[in-house]
Amino acid sequence: MMDWRTKLLDPTPQARQDYRSLVTPVYRGSTVVFEEQAAVTDDWRQAENGYSYGLYGTPTALELASRIAGIEGARESLIVPGGQAAIALIYLSYCQAGSHALVPISAYGPNKAMAEGLMRGLNVEVEAYDPLIGAGIADLIRENTALIWCESPGSVTMDIQDVPAIVVAAHKSGVAVALDNTYSAGVMFDAFAHGVDVSMQALTKYVGGHSDLLLGSVSARDDAAYGKLGPIYQQLGLAVSPDDCSLALRGLQTLAVRLDALERATLRVARWLKEHSIVDEVFHPALPDCPGHEIWKRDFTGSTSVFSFTFKESVSAEKAKSFIDALNIFKIGMSWGGVNSLAVIYPDLKRPNRDFGGRIVRLNIGLEDTDDLIADLEQAMQGL
Ligand SMILES: *Cc1c(COP(=O)(O)O)cnc(C)c1O
Repeated sequence: MMDWRTKLLDPTPQARQDYRSLVTPVYRGSTVVFEEQAAVTDDWRQAENGYSYGLYGTPTALELASRIAGIEGARESLIVPGGQAAIALIYLSYCQAGSHALVPISAYGPNKAMAEGLMRGLNVEVEAYDPLIGAGIADLIRENTALIWCESPGSVTMDIQDVPAIVVAAHKSGVAVALDNTYSAGVMFDAFAHGVDVSMQALTKYVGGHSDLLLGSVSARDDAAYGKLGPIYQQLGLAVSPDDCSLALRGLQTLAVRLDALERATLRVARWLKEHSIVDEVFHPALPDCPGHEIWKRDFTGSTSVFSFTFKESVSAEKAKSFIDALNIFKIGMSWGGVNSLAVIYPDLKRPNRDFGGRIVRLNIGLEDTDDLIADLEQAMQGL
C-alpha cells in the first residue's frame, strides 16, 4: 500500500485518456519519462525520434510547428520564443567567426541591431544592401558569404524584393537565403516555391493575431537546413510556453478570415490616403508608389494590414507628430497584426539617398469599422 504522500505524486493518469477534443490540449512539462534506461536520449529531433525533453517542445508546441510547416510547405518548422529569437537562431546557425552575411537596408530594425551588435562581436561581418538590388546581389557575394537575408516587403519603407533573382545568384555561389516572411503571415508569399532555404515569421503578428502572445517560427526547406538549425536550437534552449502555443493554434483557425478582412480594410484606407491633398506617397504593396510594386504583383497572392505613407513637405515633422497625437481610434504602437489599428512615426528613419524628414507614418489597420478609421484619420488631419 502506498502512503498518501506517495499517492499525491504518482504520475500515472487516473482518468480515461480517450478524450477526443477538437482542440489541442495544453501539455505542460519539462521532464519526459522513458520506458527503460536504454531509451534515454537528449535529442532535438523529437518529431522523428520521440519526446526527450520539454525544452525542445511539448506536444502543443510540436502541433503548432507541424501546422506551420504544413501551411508553408516546409520540411519542418521550429517554434521559438519570438520573431527576434527566430532571427538569432538563423544567424547563429549559418554564420561563424569570419563569415560574411548580407541584410537589406530596409530589414526589421532589431535584425540590423543584431548584425551590428552580437554578430559583429562574434566576428561576423554583416553588410547592408539595397533591397531593390535583385540579381545585382551577385556582385556582393564573397568567398566567405554564408547567409543572405531577405525581407519583403521591408520594414517601414515596404520595398518589395526580387527574392527569386536573389536566390538564383545566392545558390550559384552555394549561399543560403533566409527570408523574414512576417508580413505575409507565411501564406501571401510562398517562400519555398520561390527558392528560399529558411523562412521565419513572428507568430506574434498575424498567427497570434490578438496582441496577446510572443512566438516565432523558423521553417526549413529541406534536410540540409533542418540539420543546420536543429543543433543550434537545442544549444540555445529556445523553449516556448505551451499556453502561448495553444493561443497560436487558435489564431491559425481564424487566420484566413482575419487576413481577408484586414486586406480589404487596409486597401480602402490606403486608397483614401492616396487621394488626400496633404498626403504624398502611399507605400502599400498593391499601390504603384510602393518600391517593387510590379514584383509584388508577380510573386504575392495578396497584401496584409501594414503600410506607410508620407506627408507632403508642407507638413512639418512637428505637425506630423501632432497628427499622431490627435488620433483617437488608432493607438500609438509598434507591433502589429492584431485587431487594433496602430500608427507611429519613424522620426530618424535612415535610408540611403532619402531623408523622410520625420514625415513617414506607419499604419497597421485593425478590425474596427473602416469608416470609423477613415473618419479618425480625417479629423486628425484637420489643420495640418
Ligand atoms: C515583429 C517583427 C519581428 C520580431 O518579432 P517579435 O516576436 O516581436 O520578436 C521580426 N520581423 C518582423 C518583420 C517583425 O515585424
